[in-house]
Amino acid sequence: MLDLTFETPKPKVIAGATGDWELVIGLEVHAQVASNAKLFSGASTTFGAEPNANVAFVDAAMPGMLPVINEFCVAQAVRTGLGLKAEINLTSAFDRKNYFYPDLPQGYQISQLYHPIVGEGEVLVDMGPGVARRVRIERIHLEQDAGKSIHDMDPHFSFVDLNRTGVALMEIVSRPDIRGPEEAAAYVGKLRQIMRYLGTCDGNMQNGNLRADVNVSVCRPGDYEKYEATQDFSHLGTRCEIKNMNSMRFIQQAIEYEAKRQIAILEDGGEIDQETRLYDPDKGETRSMRSKEEAHDYRYFPCPDLLPLEIEQGWVDDIAATLPELPDAKKARFVSDYGMTEYDAGVLTADVGNAAYFEEVADGRDGKLAANWVINELFGRLKKADLEIEDSPVLAGQLGTIVELIAKGDISGKIAKDLFEIVWTEGGDPADIVEARGMKQVTDTGAIEAAVDQVIADNPAQVEKAKANPKLAGWFVGQVMKATGGKANPKAVNEIVSAKLGL
Ligand code: ADP
Ligand code: MG
Repeated sequence: MLDLTFETPKPKVIAGATGDWELVIGLEVHAQVASNAKLFSGASTTFGAEPNANVAFVDAAMPGMLPVINEFCVAQAVRTGLGLKAEINLTSAFDRKNYFYPDLPQGYQISQLYHPIVGEGEVLVDMGPGVARRVRIERIHLEQDAGKSIHDMDPHFSFVDLNRTGVALMEIVSRPDIRGPEEAAAYVGKLRQIMRYLGTCDGNMQNGNLRADVNVSVCRPGDYEKYEATQDFSHLGTRCEIKNMNSMRFIQQAIEYEAKRQIAILEDGGEIDQETRLYDPDKGETRSMRSKEEAHDYRYFPCPDLLPLEIEQGWVDDIAATLPELPDAKKARFVSDYGMTEYDAGVLTADVGNAAYFEEVADGRDGKLAANWVINELFGRLKKADLEIEDSPVLAGQLGTIVELIAKGDISGKIAKDLFEIVWTEGGDPADIVEARGMKQVTDTGAIEAAVDQVIADNPAQVEKAKANPKLAGWFVGQVMKATGGKANPKAVNEIVSAKLGL
């Protein structure tokens, strides 16, 4: 596989009153498995359905109902693991995590504490061209989501919606390898990108498809290196966990706030309580939810309703054989195949839909020119219209034809922009439009010469000035372009103007 070389970014440093501090961050990301049915029932996972429309008896924990594992969800977790270059555990097992909550009718969540389905993996977090952080994945386990309590629909009652109850989640646990707020957001972004390529999670953060618990601690410069060398956590500071973050921006803000809060306590001679905190985006601060002493004892035990999950290596290999080209490989290939910069390759591969669109435009054509048009014209225009690539009025085939017309010299870059606008609003075959509307570039030197002669004859005073100051030749080029409706080949015009003026 192609691999780009990279260097490791510096950790974020915060200057305190007593010296510098560094940040250490580990994330537990909850990613909803892209699947039509829930983890242990056939109920639908459709978002936005009527409350309690998608609830099977087992989701509602009716007595005597038994969970039946959804093979597709297991395959999705394996696929995700393979995409994160992780070890796949052929034997895993489900445990009950016991706690009471009104939106958890079973009284326990089925999860995988002791034997997760996916073991150690890694992800490269891009922090700019040539700079990336390697973040180790500790494990991925499968678990059920809980339902939703609704407290703001009635002044006297709370309501429970069990549609989400039992939906499959993958909990992706990282090592504390992330060293700053931007890196944490970029890490979530990279996971999301990879899972969208794999088709294993939609990654829609507004819908709660992807949420993260963010663990933050601070240490002195040099301490992290000691931890790295020994994997001994005692070199690191005590961490706090900020629960349930569902926006990249809030993740960054919460980490920033939390690090400063911890530094202030430590510099005051205090100690950090290991606690679970919540981020309040309105106030821009985290506050305590519960401390370690109040931490739940979940009384985990193996779920007696489910046999250990045994999968076969052959099945895993079959899934591996269907893995698509992933972002890092695609980016490296774009750089080498199309000769574009790593930055441009990063932009084009950010979303799997964008990458596919670009490759269709570039197919058999000038790759650099195609990249330029997709990034600058198309993306700019889509952004202005607030549209996704899937809804682009200009199809990849149409933009490809425009690129071809430019490359062949049939139209100038300027006319191409007008053509793009026409295709955007009216549709149609760009080549036909160029023919029908006479937009073809004039490369016929005879016609250009005639236009140049005309401009020279009409402007004797300008000719004298230009002879004294050759920079004024540009004015003649402009006049000729105007006279030819922008269709004259600019290079030819330049040459002919210079020759005729004797410059
Ligand atoms: P628990 O079982 O209590 O959830 P884990 O050891 O599994 O604890 O860690 C949970 C998360 O916290 C992991 O993502 C891990 O990387 C992170 N983490 C552990 N120690 C630290 C630390 N000192 N600073 C920041 N993050 C940490
Ligand atoms: Mg945890």
